[in-house]
Amino acid sequence: QLLPRDLRDAIRTIPDYPKPGVMFRDITTLLGDAGAFRRAVDELVHPYAGGKADKVAGIEARGFILGGAVAHQLSAGFVPIRKKGKLPHKTVRVSYLLEYGEDEIEMHADALVKGERVILVDDLIATGGTALAAVKLLRQIGAEVIAACFVIDLPELRGADKLRDAGLEVRTLMSFE
Ligand code: IMP
Repeated sequence: QLLPRDLRDAIRTIPDYPKPGVMFRDITTLLGDAGAFRRAVDELVHPYAGGKADKVAGIEARGFILGGAVAHQLSAGFVPIRKKGKLPHKTVRVSYLLEYGEDEIEMHADALVKGERVILVDDLIATGGTALAAVKLLRQIGAEVIAACFVIDLPELRGADKLRDAGLEVRTLMSFE
């Protein structure tokens, strides 16, 4: 991707985390670098400036940090999408498959009104399972998901392709094989 070399260098890779064979892409080093954090947020959002989005939905937990910054930058509201059981008010819920087993994410049922334009944000897209579940949740309550934005894409796992197949615009800043 067309990206200044140093933004990519702000990502730390941790081999064998959380289990042997996995190369974990750690964005905390990017978040801790003031210039890199600002640039990543600016790059993610510039196509959506000028009131194109009403809200930004961030996926727990790193999607909260990026999504909060993105929402502020776009003067949009922020909606947290959380693992089940963490939100205090009435929720809508979707379950999705993991490598082993199943998980559920949820969102407050009144977090969005029908027709609102939303940008989904997370740090990384791998298989796309989490993001697809989040899109399902947002569409279920009538939101119009205008784009899904991630700092990192792992293209071999084809998650971004799955989101595009679901009719979404996908924006990523860098990819790792
Ligand atoms: P997916 O559902 O397979 O696309 O996995 C994406 C979710 O897992 C996101 O919420 C990511 O934060 C997390 N994730 C998977 N792999 C990594 C990684 O290497 N670094 C950081 N987060 C990861």
